Amino acid sequence: MQIEERLRADIVEIGRRLHERGFVASNDGNISVRLEAERLLTTPTGVSKGFMTPDMMVTTDLSGRKLTGDREPSSEILMHLAVYEHRPEIEAVVHAHPPTATGFAVAGVPLDRAVLAEVVTTLGSIPIADYGTPSTSELADAVRQYIRVHDGLLLANHGALTVAHDLFAAYYKMETVEHFARISLVARQLGGERLLSREEVHRLQGLRDRYGIAAPAPFCPPDRAEGKKGEDVSCQALEAPSQPGARLVEAQMIGSGGAATRDFHLGLLGPDEGIRLTYRELTALIADAVKQLR
Ligand SMILES: [Zn+2]
Repeated sequence: MQIEERLRADIVEIGRRLHERGFVASNDGNISVRLEAERLLTTPTGVSKGFMTPDMMVTTDLSGRKLTGDREPSSEILMHLAVYEHRPEIEAVVHAHPPTATGFAVAGVPLDRAVLAEVVTTLGSIPIADYGTPSTSELADAVRQYIRVHDGLLLANHGALTVAHDLFAAYYKMETVEHFARISLVARQLGGERLLSREEVHRLQGLRDRYGIAAPAPFCPPDRAEGKKGEDVSCQALEAPSQPGARLVEAQMIGSGGAATRDFHLGLLGPDEGIRLTYRELTALIADAVKQLR
């Protein structure tokens, strides 16, 4: 019982931090933790996560059925259940809408470039789970596709989800996702990230092993994509170009992997001459030119 009291207090504290940092607005977001193998403790629906009290929490079984509590469990509990079902070692789940990471999720840009050694070794890649209507099984299904091999996900046009072996670790992963998104955004505004090379990523994989950093899956081999839509994902796809002997690779290398559905930047001129278009912008320009020719 003492443990449950502590977990209730921890959820309150994490909700307060999510709200204070602007990771949630209004009643957004939800947090859950395993109490025992068959019981979960979760935030209630319809309250600001910044102003919760320990007695507001709800306990449910592993199908989301309420066991105790005056309030109803979070409407997004299905997404949490999908995590607990597929990751028996996971003890806690945090879902929020941090603005920069959610901006990437809205723009359809995954956080899957090898940029920061620390993020590579801990979270690895942070892909985007397909859009699903919140609180339906669609969203849970989208999460299910990626959650076996990732501890952090963006949710298309929605937010982010992080999981870990305890509540605070799951919360800190949410901080890392948002921090990484901010750094990536600034680097893109400054002309694009220089990426860690495939060789360096390989070294970092070695560090994961040496320091026992629990990553849910290894990185995909360079020639292997993450898996097609609807398919289960089995490794973490990281964009890390190979250039033998190089630790950092210029961003102009990006896109050579042939990710046709992605918005990579095409350097039309040399690196210093500055015209950079997304794949979509380029397609629109060509379409316009063709129209005018007719
Ligand atoms: Zn949400």
